[in-house]
Amino acid sequence: MIQTRQREVILDVLREAGRPLSREEILRLGRERIERLGSATVDRAIREMTAELYIIGVEFPGQPKRYELPAESEHPHFICRVCDRVYDLPIAMKLPKISPPKGFEITGGEVIYSGICPDCR
Ligand SMILES: [Zn+2]
Repeated sequence: MIQTRQREVILDVLREAGRPLSREEILRLGRERIERLGSATVDRAIREMTAELYIIGVEFPGQPKRYELPAESEHPHFICRVCDRVYDLPIAMKLPKISPPKGFEITGGEVIYSGICPDCR
């Protein structure tokens, strides 16, 4: 298992960002805390922490995979078309229940809005 310090930094970085971060963003922000944080270490920590559900991987079409802390409730995401950052929208919502076509098993779903974030406006 990866040293606790590295894992703590990853959790801190995600908590402070308050939005899903890509591996590159985690690495960049993590290095502001541990200067010599290695990319292989971060990759391994992300893999382990995802497997243990300390962090959740989120994927959006055409975007690098991102990670966030487990949320208390289902919430939509927002992609900024200018800076490509992904945000959590703090809005309670439920995905509509659907009956999948024969042969499909649904294990998850995402609601994604897009537009321009406050920083880019
Ligand atoms: Zn933006």
